Amino acid sequence: MTDDSVRARRSFLGGALLAGAAALCAGRPGPAQSKDYPAQSKDLLAQSKKYTKERVGYRDEPYEGRSCAKCVLYAGHGECAIVQGEVSANGWCVQWTPATMGSLAGPA
Ligand code: SF4
Repeated sequence: MTDDSVRARRSFLGGALLAGAAALCAGRPGPAQSKDYPAQSKDLLAQSKKYTKERVGYRDEPYEGRSCAKCVLYAGHGECAIVQGEVSANGWCVQWTPATMGSLAGPA
């Protein structure tokens, strides 16, 4: 193998690696693309990551003294961190988690 053929082969392999890397990068969204969602889309995306009320057995009344108002996941103003849509402060679901450790509400 001559020096010229070795150089030519190295040059070809280097070019092939660059072309492959460029092809991989071309399919990825850049930082500008990933941040260009309108605020309304971000809200919809956040809502879609939450459970539906049906999925968590939500109801608009407390269960054995346990209510959204006493749940650590209740964000106030009818908003829950993990359940879609508006919830009642007097509501309850199976994901209920006491807002304060050691203060489990017993039967009413
Ligand atoms: Fe959300 Fe369920 Fe807690 Fe109510 S009880 S705040 S719906 S997790």
